[in-house]
Amino acid sequence: MELLDGKAISKQLKEEIREEVAVMVAKGHRPPHLAVILVGNNAASETYVSAKVKACKTTGFESSLLQFPPEITQEMLLQTIDELNENEEVDGFIVQLPLPKHIDSKTVIERVIPTKDVDGFHPINVGKMALGLDAFISATPGGIIELLKRYEIQTEGKHCVVLGRSNIVGGPMAMLMRRNTYPGNSTVTVAHSRTNNLKEICLQADILIAAIGKPEFVTADMVKEGAVVVDVGINRVDDSTRERGYRLTGDVDFKNVANKCSYITPVPGGVGPMTIAYLLNNTMIAARKRM
Ligand code: NDP
Repeated sequence: MELLDGKAISKQLKEEIREEVAVMVAKGHRPPHLAVILVGNNAASETYVSAKVKACKTTGFESSLLQFPPEITQEMLLQTIDELNENEEVDGFIVQLPLPKHIDSKTVIERVIPTKDVDGFHPINVGKMALGLDAFISATPGGIIELLKRYEIQTEGKHCVVLGRSNIVGGPMAMLMRRNTYPGNSTVTVAHSRTNNLKEICLQADILIAAIGKPEFVTADMVKEGAVVVDVGINRVDDSTRERGYRLTGDVDFKNVANKCSYITPVPGGVGPMTIAYLLNNTMIAARKRM
């Protein structure tokens, strides 16, 4: 078994980006600028956002954190998005999800101008990606594709089972794995909460990508010998032995599944850091386009 070390690969990717930023700045251009909107005080969101801002610093990006209380009105949030859409000093921005219940995420996502939608959530970007056109690919699936590529994982002709069909992870992941390119050209099955015979389907997977948000849901008896397993899940599980009272675990029972795999991502240190690196990659693409 070999680890798909997202931490190491994301470092590599960020270093490449940092070098490109240095050249850009040496030529007299301003560095890429990523803005992040954070609404409310969801602890997990705060952690993700601070990791994104920190990653901007290490790569030489400018970053802006726009933080709002949970009671912000939808109207005010949309107005902020309009301002960022217009702001020529900002190359890309994201609205950290989830949003409070009184705000409609769909309306918010659709308000972001597609050329600055570095999270790749706007229907225009999702549609273009589905058609194989130039588009921002959402950061988590994009990061996974990059990880598979850098480990030279064979995907052509393989059976890829994607567990989960959300708009931000499972859905786009499945689209990318069936594309007529590398990494891709897989035969893809998408499983979800209404899937029958889930275990039998998972057992057929040469590549199993788990994105369901259920701690250690994928057990060893669901995994084929030699499979490549990508664990997207980030779940907080109570753990009184830890100072913070919880530990992070994926959707895969890593301890027992790892022995059966050819490759597997750890949690933490797998898909999470790749997501952040890919967000920077998308912002770099946006910045290149203005030069
Ligand atoms: P969602 O809750 O939006 O989607 C979960 C999906 O899993 C749904 O399609 C759901 O099916 C399916 N599902 C739920 N329970 C089961 C089950 N028992 N059997 C089969 N399918 C099931 O989650 P996300 O896609 O946003 O996130 C998934 C996980 O990935 C979470 O742990 C999240 O924290 C993590 N994540 C990690 C990121 C990273 O950077 N590493 C980034 C984003 C997310 P149905 O559609 O039928 O409801």
